[in-house]
Amino acid sequence: MSVIESLIPRQGLKVLVTAGANGIGLAIAQAFKEAGALVHVCDVDEAALMSLPKGITYTLGDVSNAKDIDRLFEDVKQLGGLDVVVNNAGIAGPTASVEEISEEEWTHTIDINLNGQYRIAHHSAVLLRESQGLMINLASVAGRLGFAYRTPYAASKWAVVGLTKSLACELGPDGVRVNAILPGIVRGPRIEKVIEDRAAKRGITYEAMEQENLAKISMRKMVEPTDIAAMALFLSAPGGSNISGQALSVCANVETL
Ligand code: NAD
Repeated sequence: MSVIESLIPRQGLKVLVTAGANGIGLAIAQAFKEAGALVHVCDVDEAALMSLPKGITYTLGDVSNAKDIDRLFEDVKQLGGLDVVVNNAGIAGPTASVEEISEEEWTHTIDINLNGQYRIAHHSAVLLRESQGLMINLASVAGRLGFAYRTPYAASKWAVVGLTKSLACELGPDGVRVNAILPGIVRGPRIEKVIEDRAAKRGITYEAMEQENLAKISMRKMVEPTDIAAMALFLSAPGGSNISGQALSVCANVETL
């Protein structure tokens, strides 16, 4: 196999993407579909699920609901195995000081962003051992850095990195790889809402907040959802076969003095 060929995932991969009806998850689901994979998506947005590209199957389900996950894995059986699981579901959580954040908000963020990934890992490990497959967990650059007023989000993403490294140790001897992708600021409605909330918190305009965010990024631009999908495809291709237990940033946010 040439190096160029090693960059292409094999045809017919069986792939599950959580929260795959919009945003980054949709970009990943579409990219796998275009690469010849059988793709199943789970999401809470019924309308978006119904308008998924033809051929992508789905389950309406919430990763924080254990019964929904049971139903999801019943549906996943129709794929006839599982090669790649993309643990993408994650919410932004509250933008507030630690004194303001309620226990309910804290728990809700952790329940989706961390416990949701545990639930999917719990069900998929046996299938991934059978296929010597791959798990990709969406963390964030907030899983490497401090993030004022976004503590539950940052804490959940640091935890996702820990989950990833521990599962990579545990499943590696059976041929299963586990990696985290840490996106920087990705263009889309979610980041617009975060910028809006942080601007309100700081008493500055949306534009000023956006410029402040971009100024921290060496290339002064946001990541595209397709950039995250490209990393997911690379990890699934033969060229990614010696990458496991890694926290891979897709951003140009260089930490500098
Ligand atoms: P998004 O907010 O655009 O939401 C994507 C999808 O998640 C939606 O279809 C929504 O219906 C679904 N969803 C929400 N809660 C769910 C639940 N409990 N169960 C199932 N589906 C649910 O998200 P995004 O910006 O595409 O982010 C995807 C992942 O990437 C998340 O884990 C996020 O934390 C991470 N991330 C995003 C950015 C960014 O800038 N957008 C940066 C770093 C990390």
